Amino acid sequence: MKAVIKTKRNRGLEFKEAPIPKVGLRDVLVKVRIASICGTDVHIYDWTRWAQHRFTPPRIIGHEFVGTVTKIGDEVTRVNIDEKVSAESHLSCGKCYQCNNGYAEVCRNFKLLGVDHDGTFAEFLVLPEHVLWKNDPNIPDEWATIQEPFGNAVDTVLAEDVSAKTVLILGAGPIGLFATGIAKACGASLIIVSDPNNYRLAISKKMGAHIAVNPRKQDVTQIVMEATKNNGVDVVLELSGNNQALNQGLKSVTPGGRISILGIYERRVSIDLNKEVVFKKIRIYGITGRKIFSTWHKTSRFLSSGLVDPTLVITHRFPLKDYEKGIKLMKDGKCGKVILNV
Ligand code: NAD
Ligand code: ZN
Repeated sequence: MKAVIKTKRNRGLEFKEAPIPKVGLRDVLVKVRIASICGTDVHIYDWTRWAQHRFTPPRIIGHEFVGTVTKIGDEVTRVNIDEKVSAESHLSCGKCYQCNNGYAEVCRNFKLLGVDHDGTFAEFLVLPEHVLWKNDPNIPDEWATIQEPFGNAVDTVLAEDVSAKTVLILGAGPIGLFATGIAKACGASLIIVSDPNNYRLAISKKMGAHIAVNPRKQDVTQIVMEATKNNGVDVVLELSGNNQALNQGLKSVTPGGRISILGIYERRVSIDLNKEVVFKKIRIYGITGRKIFSTWHKTSRFLSSGLVDPTLVITHRFPLKDYEKGIKLMKDGKCGKVILNV
């Protein structure tokens, strides 16, 4: 089969032949139809500091996909041949304290698909059956492949209720754009989105943002205060991974409000904890991965019911062999979600 493989400890990837993986007793072989590119894949391509510490070549990369079950191990009971599936990318152990207490997303022994386990940028992929998600037949393939990052957005937005609340979303990458659609669908009364990228700000308006702010040209906190009668917003969603944006969020949240943080920061961040958190009595949620599988159920219903339409976020499509074009677009920020037809 053809696959996109990180073969060496340096920049780049290779599109080459790889053996079709073997199926164990509780494994499933999936024929990949579509895979989508995540920032993690770009880090691996660029061989950033994170990748150098976390990744060991050779490995097929990618963790977002939709595909069809083509072969099942003798003990598999959860899926059947020809069923359309996606999967949770955190391959949890099912045995640790976190797995036993309903926190499999922070399993102590989890393996990351496309990092610790061969990934989805290939014609075939083997997964243990317990991470597979059976797709709702009403969800088109191009939407099914983005369920994994969409689930990040679901948990970030819905860490608490947003109905009739005022919301500031920092970062309009694919996850910030999904979050905008989700906040809108859940009845947020005011959605302000901040991103230095005007291409993405334009999409955010179509996803439901009432105000789109460019933080390089405008004062985010001032705009929030003007729009909220000087109260600040009830909810901040930090989806940029930028220290400055995080601080703007802390300044913009109303005392007694909440902030959810999914963004991942390159370095340690600096915040004024006394002033911006303790004395404002705000609630901070760290968000990682998705709840397994309650978030997948919500994601599936958002998409199958049409409550959120992610069509405008999916901006580019390439055949798998042209993966590098997609990675370049992502580095230039001239895209929403980029998908690869396998
Ligand atoms: P992305 O990199 O595509 O989007 C980030 C956006 O933030 C970009 O559009 C960028 O222009 C914008 N940005 C940069 N500086 C900004 C600033 N000062 N103010 C406002 N916006 C700014 O990433 P994504 O795929 O949409 O993911 C969002 C974030 O979530 C990233 O930090 C990513 O690493 C992180 N993430 C975390 C998890 C998790 O499990 N915790 C999972 C996936 C992604
Ligand atoms: Zn575990």
